[in-house]
Amino acid sequence: MDAFDLVVRNAHCATAADVFDADIGIKDGRIAALGKGLAPGREEIDAAGRWVLPGGIDGHCHLDQPMNDGSKMADDFITGTRSAACGGTTTVIPFACQIKGQSLRAAVDDYHRRAHGKASVDYAFHLIVSDPTPEVLENELPALIREGYSSFKIYMTYDDLKLADRQIIDVLAVARDEGAMVMIHAENTDCIAWLTERLIRAGKTAPRYHAASRPMLVEREATHRAIAYAEMVDVPILIVHVSGHEAIEQIQWAQNHGLRIYGETCPQYLFLTADDLGIDDSPSSHEHGAKCICSPPPRDKANQQVVWDALAAGVFQIFSSDHAPFRYAGPDGKLGAGADARFDQIPNGIPGLETRMPLLFSHGVLDGRIDICQFVALTSTNVAKTYGLYPRKGSIAIGADADLVIWDAGTTRTICNTDLHHAVDYTPYEGIEVKAWPALTLLRGTPVWRDGRFLGTAGEGRFQACALPAPARPKFSREAA
Ligand SMILES: [Zn+2]
Repeated sequence: MDAFDLVVRNAHCATAADVFDADIGIKDGRIAALGKGLAPGREEIDAAGRWVLPGGIDGHCHLDQPMNDGSKMADDFITGTRSAACGGTTTVIPFACQIKGQSLRAAVDDYHRRAHGKASVDYAFHLIVSDPTPEVLENELPALIREGYSSFKIYMTYDDLKLADRQIIDVLAVARDEGAMVMIHAENTDCIAWLTERLIRAGKTAPRYHAASRPMLVEREATHRAIAYAEMVDVPILIVHVSGHEAIEQIQWAQNHGLRIYGETCPQYLFLTADDLGIDDSPSSHEHGAKCICSPPPRDKANQQVVWDALAAGVFQIFSSDHAPFRYAGPDGKLGAGADARFDQIPNGIPGLETRMPLLFSHGVLDGRIDICQFVALTSTNVAKTYGLYPRKGSIAIGADADLVIWDAGTTRTICNTDLHHAVDYTPYEGIEVKAWPALTLLRGTPVWRDGRFLGTAGEGRFQACALPAPARPKFSREAA
């Protein structure tokens, strides 16, 4: 009998900490041995000195999430996880979203039904807490955290999701008691509402005014407020999808003061600018703009550099897609409100699951902005650690799941939506060149993407319960003060 089910030979491996050359022996879906000259496997793959990295973990993506504005997400767990596999991502963490008035547990049960039998890569769930009733705060949320849903997102804007400040504080206190990770969408909702109203009254309704309705100061203010609440409650938080220098300065300020404030950014803040929302009132600007509307909006060129610098300097721990898939055409997509839809009627969000890893590998690692270990940390290891999947996921180590990507680096290709595997009819990254793409994606030792072909199977992806280590007893508790 062979010692291994599969041996990946001559792998040039990187983890978040180390770079090393080894054969990788895989048995029963896990990494069983790392070494030189391993015994033969039932199957063999020669990586021939190519980079072999942990599979990506996309810690922020939206799949088949129920919407209440008439729009519909294009990707369900079939197309979303297929797209993930083809771009080198082996675990996705989308959101079980509580609708106001609904129990949190009902949202989780519904989301399991949506995922069941469809995923071709592994998945965990974040929760979205939109209605923190006493029952949710005292019973449902603590119980769900202990059952493997150890992270949740809260919103400071969007009428159907936002929490009042007092609710935010109450929810943070539950996270502190239970050791959960809170992701915060930080934008000042009243400022946005006021600016939006004025723009529309002035007839400034094109997609490009989306950026003017959500300037950086609304993100900066809300980020600062979230940090203050986290400090008061004494709980770590993650500020998600940070767009530019004003919010970055707040996060850096907090980190420099010893607060456990973490940051996430996304490809749209490195590769898009406000110009992608349109430069004039022409139909082509409207189309391009509608396709690129997301919140916070992309900023200017100078901010792209600030975001790159913050990635390199370690201000950000996590790089996610914030994949929010709406088709451009059709009644339930970007133009559901008509061909000349106002910016505030266009669903927020852009696709990015498949392009996240190649964009950062190519323009981050190969262009010399971050090193290979930082790439692994940002796209996989830190995500696993932050949300409670480590060490099962997120590294190349004995005992870890054999979620691995062999990379083709050095050949140029141009991102083109017809080559992608999601169900969205466009990519905001159309025409951008990348010099790296996964040659092979292994999910627990089984190829799900190889040489340009999707090989995964719906239903092979498994739900992953998350568990964060018990919180260290704080040195100083404001509750006791
Ligand atoms: Zn958000």
